[in-house]
Amino acid sequence: MIYTFKNMLFNDKVYAYSDPIDPVYGSAEKCRVCGGFTSSLEWIGEKYVKFSKKTVGDFTFGSCFPFLLSERAFLLIRDSVKGILGFREVHDKTNRRFYCPKIETCVARIDEEKSGFIRAKSDLAVCSSCGIGATIKHYDKIVIDEIQMQDICILGNLPGTTLFNENLLQLVRDNKLTNVEEIEITKYKCPWGQ
Ligand SMILES: [Zn+2]
Repeated sequence: MIYTFKNMLFNDKVYAYSDPIDPVYGSAEKCRVCGGFTSSLEWIGEKYVKFSKKTVGDFTFGSCFPFLLSERAFLLIRDSVKGILGFREVHDKTNRRFYCPKIETCVARIDEEKSGFIRAKSDLAVCSSCGIGATIKHYDKIVIDEIQMQDICILGNLPGTTLFNENLLQLVRDNKLTNVEEIEITKYKCPWGQ
């Protein structure tokens, strides 16, 4: 079973969301085949964040992609979750430490028909290397025929989407890590409008 996060990025009913303070961005990664951008811009230099409220969960969503981890979640995940390339240390104004993981990108073979993908009309073909093609306007769910991933990855075909497996979910549940809402990708509908 493959899951993604269901958390709304800027919902802070219970737990805060985060925003970087004066971030400095480097470059984004490009596909070697089609030249398209395959990642968001790299957040470089000193990293400070502000939270939208005092109650901060073990996971924090918002504009720090893909998410921030509390120190406790970081220590649990660092040693047991595969697919994370490294962690960037982030501070808030009281100098508490949080961690922003850099996660490997995996390109899946997606059944776009079963998934109900609707792409913008364009001559752009779906790239065989990065899986990115014309803008995706909608999908009903994500049906993956084949993917080589470890415990967690960024879905290269939809680079804003993080996938994870039972190992991570089990770790979250066993340790009662907070502010994680998961959904199976076969039930995950496109979060933006048509
Ligand atoms: Zn490409």
